[in-house]
Amino acid sequence: MNSLRFNAIGNLTNSSVNVAATAKITGVFNENVFTLATARQYLSDEAYKSLIASVKSGKKIDRSMGNQIANGLRAWAESKGVTHFTHWFQPLTGLSAEKHDSFFTLKGDGTPIEEFEGGALIQQEPDASSFPNGGLRATFEARGYTAWDPSSPAFIMEIGEGKTLCIPTIFISYTGESLDTKTPLIKALVALDKAAVDVCQYFDKNITKVTATLGWEQEYFVVDAGLANARPDLTLTGRTVFGHAPAKGQQLEDHYFGAIPERVYAFMRDFEQESYKLGIPLRTRHNEVAPAQFECAPIFEEANLAVDHNTLLMDIMTRVAKRHNLIVLLHEKPFAGINGSGKHNNWSMGTDTGVNLLAPGKTPKTNLMFLTFFVNAIKAVHDYADLLRACIASAGNDHRLGANEAPPAIISIFIGEYLTKVLEEVEKRVGDKFDEQDEAILKLDIHKSIPELMLDNTDRNRTSPFAFTGNKFEFRAVGSAANCAGPMMVLNTIMAQTLTEFKSEVDALIDKGEKKEVAIMEVIKKYSVASKASLFEGDGYSEAWEKEAAKRGLANVKTTPEALDAFVTEKSKALFEANHIFTHPELEARHEIMLEDYIKKVQIEARVMGDLASTLVLPAAIKYQNTLIKNIVGLKDAGLPEKAFANQKQILEKLSEHINIISDNVEEMIEARKAANNLSDARKKAIAYCDEVKGKYFDAIRYHVDKLELMVEDSQWPLPKYRELLFLR
Ligand code: ADP
Ligand code: MG
Repeated sequence: MNSLRFNAIGNLTNSSVNVAATAKITGVFNENVFTLATARQYLSDEAYKSLIASVKSGKKIDRSMGNQIANGLRAWAESKGVTHFTHWFQPLTGLSAEKHDSFFTLKGDGTPIEEFEGGALIQQEPDASSFPNGGLRATFEARGYTAWDPSSPAFIMEIGEGKTLCIPTIFISYTGESLDTKTPLIKALVALDKAAVDVCQYFDKNITKVTATLGWEQEYFVVDAGLANARPDLTLTGRTVFGHAPAKGQQLEDHYFGAIPERVYAFMRDFEQESYKLGIPLRTRHNEVAPAQFECAPIFEEANLAVDHNTLLMDIMTRVAKRHNLIVLLHEKPFAGINGSGKHNNWSMGTDTGVNLLAPGKTPKTNLMFLTFFVNAIKAVHDYADLLRACIASAGNDHRLGANEAPPAIISIFIGEYLTKVLEEVEKRVGDKFDEQDEAILKLDIHKSIPELMLDNTDRNRTSPFAFTGNKFEFRAVGSAANCAGPMMVLNTIMAQTLTEFKSEVDALIDKGEKKEVAIMEVIKKYSVASKASLFEGDGYSEAWEKEAAKRGLANVKTTPEALDAFVTEKSKALFEANHIFTHPELEARHEIMLEDYIKKVQIEARVMGDLASTLVLPAAIKYQNTLIKNIVGLKDAGLPEKAFANQKQILEKLSEHINIISDNVEEMIEARKAANNLSDARKKAIAYCDEVKGKYFDAIRYHVDKLELMVEDSQWPLPKYRELLFLR
């Protein structure tokens, strides 16, 4: 029977879970975070100083200080009812990982006590042999270490009545290779800091630190848990592999920014409150374009912290949804024919003097600093477009990129009309000698003109994968399920590299006797000219752009296995090595892990597809086929003429055709999978999964299953339909 689907529909509760109102967000914000202010209350002067030095400038904490800090942390945590602690890290599974230990221990003589030593705070050795490592750790040397990252504060995770002290950590192998997403990100942030401070020195000697900032925007779908659980594809892959478009989709655009449905509203308030306690500064919530799609966004933060907060948020959302009998879908494309989900990464850089380096200045000097960072960012994206494409590549995001709803797989940059003109002026006017005309450019009121222009262009810049939005760049091609660490690591690394080159070019001109400002303008001009091909102001979703981009020589890599190649080119290896992010073996390993991840995801989807087709869809269709046969035979037996059952025969014929095609394709797909599995080279295997399994069979099978959905008697259809998943809540 089709009980799962109809039970779920019958069990739909419209009543939302009661979520107590918070009087004031400031009252709970950071409640469960060991902020510096809290640390001050629990630590001695010297321990506090040592923690600050470590947070602010990455200074190492010695053992005795470590012990003091650990004690302070435990005292704080115990005051809140915490019994266990864990190193919280982000291995290359894309999720967060924990292994809890209690403070409780036994002394040598058996006396029970609670303790937390510096050693346990600073370093742990989780039994982590089964996290992806790309061959970096042979199993006999399967040790991996987690090491405290003081730049992201410790927090208390509450799950039901259970409370755990979580210590954000990096995760590295015995021999020092990074096995997580955080380690390379932190290295990239260090590289950016150094390169950017060096360049800032041209403008302001007081700048001693530059911090990359990130403000992400998280899109997601919310579906009733009962309905979702009746869809094994949603449960196992996070997306529906079958499902005909509903009669009503998103064409009415009545969901976007509309009133938030009550059940979802309760869920939002609930996960927001959990987030506030953990210091995630959520600010915005609204409906998105597709039915059942929503978005939330925080105030931006230092990039490493923002990444941790996004990882935490995804985890919190997933857990809190269950309380509301909802399922949160973070997948980039849960529903065919309906918009997918992204995670825009708003990115900029801030100085310790309080200046946003991508905010246009008000004086010629600050304008020059703005232009410097602005043009370097453009040059970085232009020169390393392939890496930016690679860092957002995933099986899920492949469904979204270039699907005329999300930024295309072509990496271009939108800067708006006004700044385009400014760059044109720079190109035209900056000459061998820095003259009044050049001065004039710097005197432009960029800061005044930009806001208006940005408003004018919001519609068009929506289609750009990398858009300047007034005082930051918005990297829009990042997938909704992604860990932002990958894109942030790449972006900050290529920026660091470009700034380093910029500085050496400027210095070379200065050494030749050029005036500093002239030298800077010269190199800005050079970079602007060199990056021109990547600048695009038009509709990024259009076919015309695909053609134009091809003419300009811009890459348009549509699939993950190919996009990932960019990580292991000679150019990338040199880049990551020069900036101390990855050694060559680390890069090779990471490449392998990403390929493996892709293979596994497509493999699971293929299996789910085959299983569902064979055990749910075909049986339902065959049942209906029998009904039709009985009906036709009955009519015939009753002596009715052929034309009395001509239509039924036609339906039967169509139905049988779909059944046969599905059944044949499922068989063939299994063979294609076997062939792919026999390939030992990960890249070849990924390409086989992409082209020979997914490419040849997914759409083909889906097409016929979706046709059957429109034919088979509704009460016999086993899977909740799109109209139910998207509109019932
Ligand atoms: P909107 O685009 O809706 O007008 P904002 O421009 O304020 O709103 O911000 C959109 C997103 O960009 C928010 O998530 C915000 O935190 C982030 N953001 C704003 N300024 C910066 C910055 N300097 N660095 C990084 N992210 C930023
Ligand atoms: Mg946005």
